[in-house]
Amino acid sequence: MRAFLYLIYSFFLLIPMSHAALKVGSLHPLLSDMAHRVGGEQIEIADIFPRGSSLHSFDPSSTEMAKASGARLILAMGKQIENYLPKLRDSMPSDCQILELGRDVPDVMLPGSSQPDPHWWNTPQNMKRASRTLLAALIELNPAQRSAYETGQRQYARDMDALHNKSRIELSRIPQDQRVLVTGHAAMCHFCKSYNFISVPLFGIASEGEGDLASLAVLLQQLRRRELRCVFSEIRSQPKLLENIAAELNAACLPLSMDGLYSDGASYESSFDYNVSTIVKGLSNPPAAKQP
Ligand SMILES: [Zn+2]
Repeated sequence: MRAFLYLIYSFFLLIPMSHAALKVGSLHPLLSDMAHRVGGEQIEIADIFPRGSSLHSFDPSSTEMAKASGARLILAMGKQIENYLPKLRDSMPSDCQILELGRDVPDVMLPGSSQPDPHWWNTPQNMKRASRTLLAALIELNPAQRSAYETGQRQYARDMDALHNKSRIELSRIPQDQRVLVTGHAAMCHFCKSYNFISVPLFGIASEGEGDLASLAVLLQQLRRRELRCVFSEIRSQPKLLENIAAELNAACLPLSMDGLYSDGASYESSFDYNVSTIVKGLSNPPAAKQP
């Protein structure tokens, strides 16, 4: 009888255990979106990144990290964009690992530099590559759900391929002499390499405040000769300086979503679609009328 009761007790104890979702903390909404798609209902995602924060200035507080309490995995962008990671790693419990999803994405350097552009997520092909890194980590932590994770990642990879192919066709409408992506901060080198654009960041990696004015003046002179139709700011920034530069170049200034999703709750696909249609709109239109 006692053995029978123990069996019943164990059974009820095991049911919630076998169905308990693996808890995963996410340091950016882009990564949460990917994890939802790959892990499905087999994982529980704790979003650590507060709404409206800036990727380049975010440094999670202990209260924010408490949301991921009990997580076995914390997802990070990597490529040194989160400079707080070493400190965070030191404070994590031993059964929780930080996974940098940009880890297996090949570097693309900033123009004329040996410094890599850390904004690897700005192509669907890189997102597909990163989803394989995520898949391997999820299987390692919860092998019982291997098949569900693999199904999720396969579908995600197909969706990223479709997005890439659709975008390539859309972007082919831009004439060759306009295939120059002038941005405020240096965030679109992966995109430019993938879609055959010349990347011209006017400032540094993190914000419009970086960069040196002498080389900016030379750059502007070169851009004036190209008669570019549009330059691009970051959707969440205050692009005053960039708007002034655009006015000087007699070009439009349109915002792109380079540091994350273009609005709270948007998917990666809709954000990438938004970027592609904005670039096509900016660079395909006839040149603006010259000012007297
Ligand atoms: Zn950025």
